[in-house]
Amino acid sequence: MQSIQDIYPLLEQPRKVVITTHQKPDADAMGSSLALYHFLAGFGHTLTVISPTNWADFLDWMPGTDLVLDYESKTAKANEAIDQADWIFCLDFNVLVRTKRMEEKLLAAPALKILIDHHREPQEGVFTYGISDPSKSSTAEMVYDFIQGSGHADKMNEATIACLYAGVMTDTGSFRFNSASSGVHQMVAHLKTLGLDHSRVHEALYDNFLENRFRFIGHVLLNRMEIFYEYNTALIVVPQADLIKFDVRTGDTEGLVNYPLSIKGIRLASVIIDRGDERKSSFRSKGDFDVNAFARKYFNGGGHFNAAGGFNKEPLDIVVQRFKTAMKENTALLNS
Ligand code: 5GP
Ligand code: MN
Repeated sequence: MQSIQDIYPLLEQPRKVVITTHQKPDADAMGSSLALYHFLAGFGHTLTVISPTNWADFLDWMPGTDLVLDYESKTAKANEAIDQADWIFCLDFNVLVRTKRMEEKLLAAPALKILIDHHREPQEGVFTYGISDPSKSSTAEMVYDFIQGSGHADKMNEATIACLYAGVMTDTGSFRFNSASSGVHQMVAHLKTLGLDHSRVHEALYDNFLENRFRFIGHVLLNRMEIFYEYNTALIVVPQADLIKFDVRTGDTEGLVNYPLSIKGIRLASVIIDRGDERKSSFRSKGDFDVNAFARKYFNGGGHFNAAGGFNKEPLDIVVQRFKTAMKENTALLNS
């Protein structure tokens, strides 16, 4: 993979560009993609942002979401943009399987693929240019670095600034994780001097939920959470019937896994959700328990050291059983 900096001399020649991210994009995925979109628009490129799936309503305030193509509902239009693209920017994921039904299309596309991502162990041989840096807090921070490094920081407008802040704020857990380095705080200070209204972003993201989400969380914490104190582990299992009963929408389960992680002594928190077509797992850890390795080994997934996820096609009870076996196999690490 060639350095992302090799793109800089090419930025000023207008190209056909696709920007894409992982399925069910979160605020970092959507925020970094739209920030890059607004920045590249300043050079006159022809731009298409494609999300592999739909996204949570609470992201719709981000400037540009109305232009994002949902691959599942706008497949033909999205495929046309992919076929014609000179460049495809891949943001906030590093294995093509994270783009779900787009994977094959992306693999076959003649465009140069450019990676900007902070997850561990990128897929080999797919990306021509790019940067993969797991020490970075967020893809939004990396897009900010990309913009700064390009020498065209003057092209950052109000939309870019709000989208970048949304990504870095959410991926650092509102600046509580270790990844919130001095560089991150300097970036935020810079965004503030450029006019960032950070309170508005927090309100847009965190004060716009519907009642059903809280009823669902209450139900799940009361009835679906199991604590295994001997393994310092918590597990929430959500059957599909709960999603239907509480009318759970995309984004409503985001953050659920963080509740049990706040229980004293818990080092591994997990949520397994039966989404119908697949079982989605989320893992969070404290300290030196590596959930990226855990998700890769047992759940067909990956992510970061302290935050990872995975997908399985097997029935819910089999996935839960696999989790319990995996937990027991990791007794020593979970108690160290
Ligand atoms: P979440 O639990 O919020 O879905 O995901 C936590 C982190 O792990 C995110 O950074 C996400 O991108 C990553 N992740 C989630 N699911 C998968 C997966 O199936 N494969 C890989 N490689 N990463 C995942
Ligand atoms: Mn991210």
